[in-house]
Amino acid sequence: MSQDPIARRKFLRHSLVGAAAVAGTTAACSKPEQEAGPAVHTQKSVTWRLASSFPRGLDTIFGAAEVLAERLEAMSDGKFRIRVYPGGELVPNLQVLDAVQQGTVQVGHTASYYYIGKNPALAFDTCVPFGMTSRQQTAWLTEGGGLDLMRSVFTDFGMTTFPAGNTGAQMGGWFKREISGPGDLQGLKMRIPGLGGQVMSRLGATVQVLGGSDIYPALERGAIDATEWVGPYDDAKLGFHKVAKYYYYPGWWEPGPSLSYLVNLKAWDALPKSFQEMFTAAAAESATVMQARYDHQNPAALAELLKEGVELRQFSDELMAAAQKSSFEMLEEQAVQDATYRKIFDAWSKAREDAYRWLSTAELAYSRFACENL
Ligand code: CA
Repeated sequence: MSQDPIARRKFLRHSLVGAAAVAGTTAACSKPEQEAGPAVHTQKSVTWRLASSFPRGLDTIFGAAEVLAERLEAMSDGKFRIRVYPGGELVPNLQVLDAVQQGTVQVGHTASYYYIGKNPALAFDTCVPFGMTSRQQTAWLTEGGGLDLMRSVFTDFGMTTFPAGNTGAQMGGWFKREISGPGDLQGLKMRIPGLGGQVMSRLGATVQVLGGSDIYPALERGAIDATEWVGPYDDAKLGFHKVAKYYYYPGWWEPGPSLSYLVNLKAWDALPKSFQEMFTAAAAESATVMQARYDHQNPAALAELLKEGVELRQFSDELMAAAQKSSFEMLEEQAVQDATYRKIFDAWSKAREDAYRWLSTAELAYSRFACENL
């Protein structure tokens, strides 16, 4: 990571000061601690504030930030704490990046694709339509150079990014009527934000962007014909199945969306190396926990929805093919406008192709057999 050498120099400086303090008490006493910087083992407490884009009620996603804070506090013997604020408490849900950039908070918990208005390439930190699955996205980010590419974009905003968990493939959402092919999307009023919304619009739908609490009443009174959200566990809580009985899959616009912790670089650089390592480890653990909670809770939630009369439907191959064509046309249009976007898009495309070739070889073949022989 680009800021590592700076952190290492600081760590060495801190360690030398620590050694001096051990060697001679006068040296330690004569130097004001603030000026010299404390040794790691006598590190002063650090308290950060975290602004989330998500409500407490979305416990799977929001819970990741709580895991992060709990683990950091435990690992640091209470010396590195993060106060976690749910969406809207400190700053509006979709202004978390701005709050990190301004230093209002040291860390933001959000989805980078909320900020494509600032730089369209930020979408690749989360996901784009017809992108990668959760595991593939994680592999590209953490091992395939994706995170380095994304961090080079975030540096322009004075911050860095850490993966904060993944919902896994989302559902296509709730529809009041059946959708057979792309023709049925003509004039369909659907709540679907972001790049998925842009593709739906290209396919003829009338797209609306509504906040979580406004969706149910709009669907109930017929102001919209359809909505997407996340998956069974989260969707059931919002009650969409009571007013739209067709539940479509897959959510091709979000096959593996990765959430993010955005960290202000000045705050990051001011941390001792040991706290940086703790943050990195706790963030990774929280991401694993978040994904596992979804994978554990979604099966039972879907079974419960089916018991209540929900009609499960799969998008037709014809619709999927039209949507994929439209999606890649859109991504290509964005790539020709910006060299950084092009660089990330090309690296991502190669990783995507390689990842699906491998997935279809063993994992998919095994999963298909297992699913067909339950
Ligand atoms: Ca969604």
